[in-house]
Amino acid sequence: MPREAMDFDVLIVGGGPAGLSAAIRLKQLAAEEGGEVSVCLIEKSAEIGGHILSGAVLDPRALAELFPDWRALGAPLKAPVSDDRFLLLGARRSVRLPNWLLPACFHNEGNHVISLANLCRWLGTQAEALGVEIYPGFAGAEVLYAEEGELRDSVRGVATGDMGRRKDGEPGPDFQPGMELRAKYTFFAEGSHGHLGQEIEARFALREGADAQVYGLGVKEIWEIDPARHQTGLVIHTAGWPLDAHTYGGGFMYHMADNQVAVGHITGLAYRNPYLSPFEEFQRLKTHPALRAFLDGGKRIAYGARAITAGGLQSLPKLVFPGGALIGDDAGFLNAARIKGSHCAMKSGSLAAEACFAALIAGRQNDTLTSYPDAFRSSWLYAELHAARNFKPWMAKGLALGSLMFGIDQIVLRGKAPWTLHHSGPDHSKLDQAADAEPIAYPKADNVISFDRASSVYLSNTHHAEDQPCHLQLKDDSVPVAVNLALYDAPEQRYCPAGVYVIVRDPDGANPRLQIDAANCVHCKTCDIKDPTQNIVWVAPEGGGGPNYPNM
Ligand SMILES: Cc1cc2nc3c(=O)[nH]c(=O)nc-3n(C[C@H](O)[C@H](O)[C@H](O)COP(=O)(O)OP(=O)(O)OC[C@H]3O[C@@H](n4cnc5c(N)ncnc54)[C@H](O)[C@@H]3O)c2cc1C
Ligand code: SF4
Repeated sequence: MPREAMDFDVLIVGGGPAGLSAAIRLKQLAAEEGGEVSVCLIEKSAEIGGHILSGAVLDPRALAELFPDWRALGAPLKAPVSDDRFLLLGARRSVRLPNWLLPACFHNEGNHVISLANLCRWLGTQAEALGVEIYPGFAGAEVLYAEEGELRDSVRGVATGDMGRRKDGEPGPDFQPGMELRAKYTFFAEGSHGHLGQEIEARFALREGADAQVYGLGVKEIWEIDPARHQTGLVIHTAGWPLDAHTYGGGFMYHMADNQVAVGHITGLAYRNPYLSPFEEFQRLKTHPALRAFLDGGKRIAYGARAITAGGLQSLPKLVFPGGALIGDDAGFLNAARIKGSHCAMKSGSLAAEACFAALIAGRQNDTLTSYPDAFRSSWLYAELHAARNFKPWMAKGLALGSLMFGIDQIVLRGKAPWTLHHSGPDHSKLDQAADAEPIAYPKADNVISFDRASSVYLSNTHHAEDQPCHLQLKDDSVPVAVNLALYDAPEQRYCPAGVYVIVRDPDGANPRLQIDAANCVHCKTCDIKDPTQNIVWVAPEGGGGPNYPNM
């Protein structure tokens, strides 16, 4: 069955803060300068915001540039930061670092505790009011390249995924082929480790000269807590326990409006021990007296997980290629020192939109938008990422040495050190073999403060049509047992925060094999990042599938 096609000036893949800001900026410019620009945005979630998971403490700088009157327009920023605490945790004790000792990038005055999902829903409404065509429930599944003529090999848009294919790949009774969405310029805004973004990086060699991208996995819950323990706008960050001193990561608790708190933990995916479980580390974190004091008597209402890009400036790929651009976390703009990427995503989307609008007005199409990286290099975003660039490489040297050296980098040298440290390689290359590692005995869930994966995944509202091709593809079916189980004791059983990967055996313990419960996937992308053999490939499932986050 042939695919239908639609043509636009600009196609944006992904409805997070980067994609929505780009769409809005294009339409604002068209309205200001009297031009006509057609903008289409597709989002794999069933509704804008449904796959968005963040902290979140928002630095409102990029939002204020996009909408100087965001307050009057009703942007959902309901909880200005009222108090900011940084705790160093031991197993039972905690020490609060005085705020004057913390580098400026750790401060949160002027920021807001928000739900990023709700901010995206609001941005989606603004975008639609400006005339952006938004299609939720459509996943970009295949990049389209021009096959002939002058534009040959440039990106011409994307095809959305087919609907109604059965598990065996054959069309089912309700089969609908995907659509070709063609555009003069296509922006990839899929967030961290976007699967089409990965393809584009490889096809156009965009990572040449850049460090490997490095990641963290954020696991998060929302709790409704006792009003007497709630303090709207309170921001808490933690370092130390439960991670060992050589594993990068930290916790957070943000007091949102309406007696809700967001509590979460980020584990750097360069961790070495194959027995480590980011999910269990987070469950342990909540049992620490410093956090438990807020959660006791409360109720967990939401759960989810998502990888973050943490490589910063030295891991940024080239941002443009013939026919499009990478924006937001798909490129890797997050500032890991601040654990903030939303304002970076919004700013990069706006900068790309400005470059694209100028090209369209000049009658250009499908060429390389070089003025976007030029504008980035002269922007506050570049200055911010440049000042923070040594954070992650220092922290890779351990909590004590890393904190000391980053403190000197920020407080004494004010982010202007004459050197740039580099990342030592991709996260999947960092795992020790099981024979060289110490198993970790995680405590059993108490079902009060800590929980198991099954009840957690239930709260992510994840749903996928069962009869569809598996979206977690193995390059080689024999590797999970012959290599991953044999050498690493099948680490995918522990790093997946949704319990998707399980080694099952016959009743006598023989015949181990990997079972993939793809329906439980929360689209965090960790398996594609951390699998030591790089044998797992995440591709987009049918549009509309995946988690359904309320206000993550
Ligand atoms: C646990 C955690 C805590 C964080 N805390 C903070 C914080 O406190 N402050 C802060 O500023 N930042 C924080 N961040 C980072 C911030 O959330 C990201 O930097 C930001 O969301 C990036 O925006 P984005 O638009 O690039 O991508 P995303 O927000 O990830 O949005 C991408 C969108 O694209 C969609 N998509 C992906 N692939 C496709 C496809 N093929 N087809 C169609 N749609 C697709 C996704 O469903 C999603 O809706 C945190 C992140 C995590 C995980
Ligand atoms: S299967 Fe992969 S992408 Fe899905 S939840 Fe597990 S680790 Fe994340």
